[in-house]
Amino acid sequence: MTYQESCHCGSIAFEVEGRIEQAMSCNCSICSRKGSLMWFVPAGHLTLRTPQDENFGTYVFNQHVIRHRFCKNCGIHPYGEGTDPKGQAMAAINIRCLEGIDIDAIPVTRYDGRSA
Ligand SMILES: [Zn+2]
Repeated sequence: MTYQESCHCGSIAFEVEGRIEQAMSCNCSICSRKGSLMWFVPAGHLTLRTPQDENFGTYVFNQHVIRHRFCKNCGIHPYGEGTDPKGQAMAAINIRCLEGIDIDAIPVTRYDGRSA
């Protein structure tokens, strides 16, 4: 299955390949502010359709393990990049930015990132 995702204004748009079995809700300092629901895929399953131009922002904090990608024009955070415990490049897709999915039908797992 290929999903289409974008920020609100469309400056950042991409395709994601995979099957959404669940999403993660995290209570850490940034996830709780963004309200994102995350779906983790290998980084190679994400194909950008827009250039990484002046609207393409990257935010890092703490130990700089995750690169939070956001749109400088509309402020939406569609995804982040990092590595899994085995060192594989991963993408955390914010499924709230996916087109054509029934978000309420996706099981949500809660992660206590605030205590991690
Ligand atoms: Zn935007």
